[in-house]
Amino acid sequence: MEIISMKCPSCGASITTKTTKCEYCGSDIMVKSFQALSAMPLPQVNKYMATYRAAAAEHPENNDVNTSVGMCFLKLKKYDQALEYFEVTNLQDLLDDHCTLEAFSSAVDVARDDVNSLKRQTTVIN
Ligand SMILES: [Zn+2]
Repeated sequence: MEIISMKCPSCGASITTKTTKCEYCGSDIMVKSFQALSAMPLPQVNKYMATYRAAAAEHPENNDVNTSVGMCFLKLKKYDQALEYFEVTNLQDLLDDHCTLEAFSSAVDVARDDVNSLKRQTTVIN
């Protein structure tokens, strides 16, 4: 997995995706499971997402970052956007590296169903 430099989503310190926790504030750097995110208050999710999106803009091929952005969008119920980010990630990597695939894939399934039903209703999501 490619190591990239980014800012700590919580305190803004310069860190890399090599570390799992920020050495300055102790926050998780990369959100890898939907469970971890579901316990997170929304203002913090927004903060994390802003950081991840900035990192994803600089490193569009980085699976870690794209997956984390996708999870944040899922949490915010922005399913269309979530799926855009998940499409560029390698699901096999998740399967190999983490034991969260079940939760992850069920979240994506729910998201897909929701997106499809919304599309059928031709509802505009903002
Ligand atoms: Zn920090």
